[in-house]
Amino acid sequence: MDLVHLSRSVPELIEIDRLAGDLPRGMRVRILDSVIHHGVELPIHCFEAGPEDPETPVFLLTGGVHGLERIGTHVVIGYMKTLFSQMAWDDAQQDLFKKARLIIVPLVNPAGMLLRTRANGRGVDLMRNAPVEAVHNSWLPFVGGHRLGPFLAWYRGGGADEGTMEKESSVLENLVREKLFPSRAALSLDVHSGFGTVDRLWFPYAKSREPFPSLAEVYQLSALLDRTYPNHIYKVEPQSLNYTTHGDLWDYFYDEHSSSGPGRGTYLPLALELGSWLWVKKNPRQILSLLGAFNPVIRHRYQRILRRHLALLDFMARAAASHQTWSRIPKVERKEITEKAHDRWYSGFSGELPSHAGK
Ligand SMILES: [Zn+2]
Repeated sequence: MDLVHLSRSVPELIEIDRLAGDLPRGMRVRILDSVIHHGVELPIHCFEAGPEDPETPVFLLTGGVHGLERIGTHVVIGYMKTLFSQMAWDDAQQDLFKKARLIIVPLVNPAGMLLRTRANGRGVDLMRNAPVEAVHNSWLPFVGGHRLGPFLAWYRGGGADEGTMEKESSVLENLVREKLFPSRAALSLDVHSGFGTVDRLWFPYAKSREPFPSLAEVYQLSALLDRTYPNHIYKVEPQSLNYTTHGDLWDYFYDEHSSSGPGRGTYLPLALELGSWLWVKKNPRQILSLLGAFNPVIRHRYQRILRRHLALLDFMARAAASHQTWSRIPKVERKEITEKAHDRWYSGFSGELPSHAGK
């Protein structure tokens, strides 16, 4: 495929490549790996700023896990443009990266974006692809992940390869293991679209309706967001409140991190689920187009969405840098905070509360 064709099929890759060629001071870029699709090499870029010390607090921002959800990658690219420009003149922005690391993978699934599919080039839904079995079944058949085959969405992959993850999933796993696991405090945010009418910030689990162990930390982070942006638009909640799935990559990374031994830092994997049904409600005709259900079609709405999340992404980078505010929870307060979190998010759940969380 030539450059002209590529720019027409995946203009996002051209945009990412352009950003990679014009980095501000302090920003680095590397290609994590490439996906070969019909003989064309599609790179997965990774941008990084901040100290090399592996214990540095870190914020990982990812987009484009689902190829159909182009707007997620656009939100990430929009943030990168603002950030790169700020880094060129704003010393305060540069100072942030003296104490925190920012890692950005704007397009995890370039073949899916090329093909305009949710899945990757092999028909596998990357967000159903991890070796995680749901504890509670999804209320929708198939949506939670299945092994019937790639002809139906939400395919977990498998068959003869069962247990091995797709290349894109492994690339992400290697990155998370290398950069997030050794960190004192790590936040990740994976941008998606296609569910509901409000913008949601989801925390684990996807596999289970049980409270996840870092409940106190996520409650503190959410409270910090409320204090900092009292009029913010996000609904913070566990993903399982909406539906459960097999094979969620972030569930997998979180559990692997938790079992990686004593002395580990805090890790909160979050997802930003853009409420695309609202765009459809305001412009019902767009549901008729394949991409329209997942992406804003009208220009002013598109621009508003690119602006809308800049403050959140900036907040996340700062929250990683100053993680003590939400990650250091005195023992005497933990029980009370966990109970508050339970009342807020799991009042319908009668199981046991996590007795200890995070560190
Ligand atoms: Zn998605």
